Amino acid sequence: MKIGFIGLGNMGIPMALQLVRAGHEVYGKNRSLGKEEAFVANGGKAASSYTQLAQEMDVVITCLPMPADVEQVYLGVGGLLEAARAGLTIVDCSTVAPELSKVLFDASLKAEVQFLDAPVSGGTTGAASGTLTIMVGGVEETYNQVLPILQAMGKQIHYVGEAGCGSAVKLINQLMVGIHTQATSEALSLAEQFGLDQEQVFQILNLSFAQSKIMERHYSQFIAEQNYEPGFAIRLLSKDLNLAIEAANAKGVHTVMGSRVKALLQRAISEGHGDHDMAGMYVYQQERDQRRREHGELKHFAVFLPMLDPEKSVTYREEHLAFLSERRQAGMLLANGRFVDGAGGLVIYRAGSQEEVEQWVKQDPYIIHQARSYEIHEWDIVLADE
Ligand code: NAD
Repeated sequence: MKIGFIGLGNMGIPMALQLVRAGHEVYGKNRSLGKEEAFVANGGKAASSYTQLAQEMDVVITCLPMPADVEQVYLGVGGLLEAARAGLTIVDCSTVAPELSKVLFDASLKAEVQFLDAPVSGGTTGAASGTLTIMVGGVEETYNQVLPILQAMGKQIHYVGEAGCGSAVKLINQLMVGIHTQATSEALSLAEQFGLDQEQVFQILNLSFAQSKIMERHYSQFIAEQNYEPGFAIRLLSKDLNLAIEAANAKGVHTVMGSRVKALLQRAISEGHGDHDMAGMYVYQQERDQRRREHGELKHFAVFLPMLDPEKSVTYREEHLAFLSERRQAGMLLANGRFVDGAGGLVIYRAGSQEEVEQWVKQDPYIIHQARSYEIHEWDIVLADE
């Protein structure tokens, strides 16, 4: 069969190579060319365009990082659906919102194309060994037609209902992946502070009620190896938790743990961890703990920067933002923004004491050049999702 594969990333390349091994003629397309070359070097072929794939393939599979990438590849100018021949089948293995899967299903229907949402679980090792779990939504007849192709990439393959249901199951999975990731980070950090043998603790937990596939993956493949090359990047887990929490909110399900993990992932990204594997949340936990041990429990401080000189504010704005960005990288800034009525701005810092914050504020280019004055208030913050 002639199969197109769009998105040759950490998952896409090993999945597409399983299809090559199963004897299919596979044409790969990726945003950056290096990945296509790697695919061709391993037995794949390079596609010239989405149009070629949409017109010449029997089936096209997509495995793309962000929902916006998926929308662009399917619905954008020169995208798949614009050029698709009637009767083509497209399978989306990306993790996206069920709503987006439904939109793609409806748009495909109009273009006389069959569409399945078929997100996957099992990570890069599952992709490389062809043992992924695949959860599929859409028309069951289409599912039955492409099942042999899915079987080349996965072992546990489930038809779960109409369009969007595959994506819904995947987001439920990701909600638990996020929570178990945080559970692993906290548990192993505590073991370390007790001075216990990490390997032994892991072996015990792995045979106890604390066991989880995520703990096993994170410890064996990443934490024990002290290697955080993804795998599955923190930025992608953050995307998935955002989608899962959004879906839960829409359904009236209150996700206390999920919402906290979502916030932590966002913070980890803002502190430079986004491209590390999700097991790197353990490293982020350790960094935060270390900061707490050094500075005590961090408090929040709201710093109001009333306008003194609008012209100087414009002149020193870039320097001020660069200064804030440094504080953000150091994990000491929660949020910042300006009042659109010109009254000034507000910065929320995290710090051990008011004196510490005042020292930073005095280094702010706005304060040095008297573009703004300042007021500092310790803030007993209450997060909306608690
Ligand atoms: P990745 O970032 O490693 O790879 C994505 C690839 O898509 C990149 O090579 C990128 O260049 C390419 N791409 C982006 N936009 C493109 C476009 N418009 N046209 C062509 N190529 C484009 O991501 P990944 O880890 O392979 O994940 C892909 C999807 O699978 C995501 O939705 C992710 O949530 C999901 N997923 C990942 C894992 C995992 O363990 N990595 C597991 C299950 C599901």
